[in-house]
Amino acid sequence: MTSFAPEPAHVTELRRQLSRWVADRMPREKRREWDKAHTWDRALFKELAEMGLIGLTIPEEYGGQGEDIYAAAAVIEELCQGGPSMAGPFIHAAFYGGLNISENGSKEQKEALLPKLARGEMFLCYGLSEPNVGGDLPSVETRVTRDGDEIVINGAKRWCTGADWSDYIYCLCRSGGPEDRHGNLTFVLVPTDAPGVSMQPLEHANLRYTDSMDVFLDDVRLPASAIVGGPEKWNKGWEALAGRALDVEKIEITAVAYGIARAALEEAWTYAQERTQFGKPISRHQAIAHKLVTARTKLAACRHMLYHAAWLASEHMPCSVETAMAKLYVADTGVEIGLACQQVIGAYGLSDAYDIERNVRDLLGMPIVGGSSDIQKNNLARMLRL
Ligand SMILES: Cc1cc2nc3c(=O)[nH]c(=O)nc-3n(C[C@H](O)[C@H](O)[C@H](O)COP(=O)(O)OP(=O)(O)OC[C@H]3O[C@@H](n4cnc5c(N)ncnc54)[C@H](O)[C@@H]3O)c2cc1C
Repeated sequence: MTSFAPEPAHVTELRRQLSRWVADRMPREKRREWDKAHTWDRALFKELAEMGLIGLTIPEEYGGQGEDIYAAAAVIEELCQGGPSMAGPFIHAAFYGGLNISENGSKEQKEALLPKLARGEMFLCYGLSEPNVGGDLPSVETRVTRDGDEIVINGAKRWCTGADWSDYIYCLCRSGGPEDRHGNLTFVLVPTDAPGVSMQPLEHANLRYTDSMDVFLDDVRLPASAIVGGPEKWNKGWEALAGRALDVEKIEITAVAYGIARAALEEAWTYAQERTQFGKPISRHQAIAHKLVTARTKLAACRHMLYHAAWLASEHMPCSVETAMAKLYVADTGVEIGLACQQVIGAYGLSDAYDIERNVRDLLGMPIVGGSSDIQKNNLARMLRL
């Protein structure tokens, strides 16, 4: 696919390699099987790690390839051509883990975690949402208190995707009274096997590479060194959440939305040329052709927004507005593209004989997860000083 500027040669090569790998290792019947079982394949993921892909968010001194956000977004896009089953775990290792620890971890945390994350041997999950807290993250109620050299956590996290197989929860906690909404927040790395941690799965229709969990934290006692960034980062959680990691987080979820929308369109595009009704391929009926070229046009706009934002982030340039716009536009437009493609595929668009049914379920969640479209609009209005 062409772009407004030549894509870096190493990214083009990465795409070529990955698209062959996805076609070979993630055939349709496997994708269907993983989706139904809410699972992913560890042995396959190991192959991705051996290609050095997880290291694209991790500095070389810690065993990574050196941060390359643009390339990491392209990896997500290509993996999504086979559904979320490999893109999901990739994000848990490279972004929730690699990027956050590289950006916000203490020296000890970087030395202990980053090499394992880069090798694909460790995963983090996000503990942000709670039963009473969705978009309004500064209102989290899970409490962390200090007790000498230790900290104690009590509360509950909801939608903690992958908590059952991740090593740590990157857990946002309230570390003081609610009067200072942003100043009394602390991130803690909670080992998922720590005494006091229990969990149960939630049923959900989208992103079924895994279960999403309700996690209960009852008197979870950890050393103060479990605070992300070390004890000196007590009450500094909001800085970590609202900093560069959040911009890049939006790129990562935007890459998922774009990748899945692209997969939906490729399937509908091929289908429309193969399916014959009224004596000709349905792509030759104007209503279908218009749907498809409109979707292709929207997809091209999405691509520009995603990779422009990713390029800004890769160059360490300010990109909060561009990443918020990309998340908003690509997530909302991805839904439009997915629904149009489902119409093109007709009855089969609602069966599991094609990928479109799963792709639409996944696209429907995109304007909700990772900061809803409404929240992006609120943030954009603030950033643009409306
Ligand atoms: C499959 C799946 C996986 C997930 N994985 C994770 C995970 O790993 N970790 C994690 O922490 N969370 C996860 N989430 C949770 C997700 O991030 C939240 O669903 C999201 O933040 C929105 O929260 P909410 O659904 O509670 O909506 P709410 O915040 O309750 O909002 C409900 C509706 O009101 C709108 N709204 C709310 N406030 C405003 C406002 N101020 N102005 C305008 N509109 C507003 C929202 O846009 C939305 O449409 C996951 C969710 C799903 C479905």
